[in-house]
Amino acid sequence: MNNDQNLRLAIQKSGRLSEKCRDLLARAGINFDFRSDRLISRAREQALDLMLVRDDDIPGFVKNEVSQIGIVGLNVLEEKLGRVSEGEGDVEIIRRLNFGYCRLALAIPKTSSFDGLMSFQGKRIATSYPNTLRRYLDDNGVKATIVEITGSVEVAPSIGIADAICDLVSTGATLDSNGLRQTTVLLESEAVLIRPRRRLSDAQEQLLEKLVARIDGLQKARNSKYVMLNAPKDAIYRISQLIPGMEKPTVMPLMCDESRVAIHAVCKEDVFWETIEKLKEAGASSILVLPIEKIIE
Ligand code: ATP
Ligand code: ZN
Repeated sequence: MNNDQNLRLAIQKSGRLSEKCRDLLARAGINFDFRSDRLISRAREQALDLMLVRDDDIPGFVKNEVSQIGIVGLNVLEEKLGRVSEGEGDVEIIRRLNFGYCRLALAIPKTSSFDGLMSFQGKRIATSYPNTLRRYLDDNGVKATIVEITGSVEVAPSIGIADAICDLVSTGATLDSNGLRQTTVLLESEAVLIRPRRRLSDAQEQLLEKLVARIDGLQKARNSKYVMLNAPKDAIYRISQLIPGMEKPTVMPLMCDESRVAIHAVCKEDVFWETIEKLKEAGASSILVLPIEKIIE
């Protein structure tokens, strides 16, 4: 196939999202021969090219169709292209990918008092997310000075260049060790798969559809479990009610046992110990809970 027709996917070259992106592609059956000296790697069996780039470049690349699709944090996407999750602009989110969770939040020194957003009025706030912060402050009628810095935002208050910060937080440990506390969340972020709104070539659209269907199959499987157990015949109804998010179970006879049956079911939720204990109380035995790799409906 002509290379120009290949679908190009941009992912982060090295950083917090790289490994999860590669892992997702591998589980979707898409394999690449990675070469660190090359910007673009071709997939082995699909008309798909992978671009390994800095995450900050991904929104612009997709917008300008340097690559047709990309995986990037929602935080970076909205900083570069505005409120994409609300339908703004030329790029759209195809799927949220359930990894790279973090939040963009305002934080102040633990010693400062906080009495709502107006506490930021007239203050200096250090951030690497000036656009997102500006939109948020404007929406809430707060006038503050934004001090743009690209790294180590969390030290800004202690060196006296800002009164507060607006930065990514996941556990809060970095804030804590810098004597800061979170006050307000601006954005809950995770990795997202993006594309231009414009229609791509037929071949590219088809490949994208296939890729998205595979990702959906993996996502559905993530929380689902396959449950197998044996149970008394008269407990079938009670037991099927106990299995969470279950679709129609398969009920099978057991050899040399007239009174008991085997029940197999796909559960759409995780199966917790509490449920297993209740199943046992209802007469179930030999309970197996297995992970599911893919679900194609
Ligand atoms: P690049 O060199 O590609 O510009 P970077 O240093 O800007 O990399 P990383 O620190 O690797 O970026 O983070 C990439 C993305 O991972 C973030 O934009 C965010 O979406 C996500 N992320 C998840 N958890 C965290 C966290 N605790 N801190 C920062 N980013 C996080
Ligand atoms: Zn970056």
